[in-house]
Amino acid sequence: MKLKINGNYYEGKAGETLMELAKRNNINIPSLCHKKGFEGLGRCRLCLVEVKEGHRTKVVSSCVYPIKDGVEVITNSDKILKMRKNIIMLLLLRTPNNEYIKNLAKEYGVVAPERYMNTDEKEDCVLCGLCVKACETMGTNAISMVNRGTTKKVSTPYDDASKDCIGCGACAEVCPTKAISLIDKDGKRIIWNRTFDLIKCSKCGRYYTTNEAFHYANNKLDIIIEEPLCEDCKRKLTGEKFKEVFEKL
Ligand code: SF4
Repeated sequence: MKLKINGNYYEGKAGETLMELAKRNNINIPSLCHKKGFEGLGRCRLCLVEVKEGHRTKVVSSCVYPIKDGVEVITNSDKILKMRKNIIMLLLLRTPNNEYIKNLAKEYGVVAPERYMNTDEKEDCVLCGLCVKACETMGTNAISMVNRGTTKKVSTPYDDASKDCIGCGACAEVCPTKAISLIDKDGKRIIWNRTFDLIKCSKCGRYYTTNEAFHYANNKLDIIIEEPLCEDCKRKLTGEKFKEVFEKL
């Protein structure tokens, strides 16, 4: 599949979205709710682009728009930049003190009117839903969007400490604005009003995950991993194993 983005031709793969094709070719399209490994959510709308198909032009969310042969895409037209700036202004009004959003606003030269600023100075959540998607993908569904309108937020059921949460930290990890509080201290992890015991990596001795997340992953993968290993040590061991194999060849 061949299509034009900002005047240049690119080869796309069937089933790919515009955002994936753009990322693969180092074309910058801003987004908050898109993360490699997850399906597009089309929620934050920052990734809007213009698509010309024959005589028709439309504005689409590039993270959910499947590529089509022969279309022309413009990621930075005046119309798109104006729409993107409006979205950034709304985000800035909601989270006026968030570093990520402040930097985005600076990059696009966006200034929000003071009188409409959120009075909750600690608000960091932009309601992109990526944390909910991460938890859903993990299979625990411990958090979700609750309420409507201005009181909409991400939370556990009834704001209580969720019994389904395993403290894996995936939600905090994917959050673009670092809105989810995760505190690792003295062998304990505090997240979503729950305190978990952390376990150590059997190789390097570093605390790296919760007991619940370790056992949940074992059950899900249907294998018994006797010795907990952090990601760094896993990578190191795999590298050493490959080296051993290649040296024997
Ligand atoms: S820490 Fe809890 S809420 Fe967050 S992704 Fe893991 S299970 Fe879900």
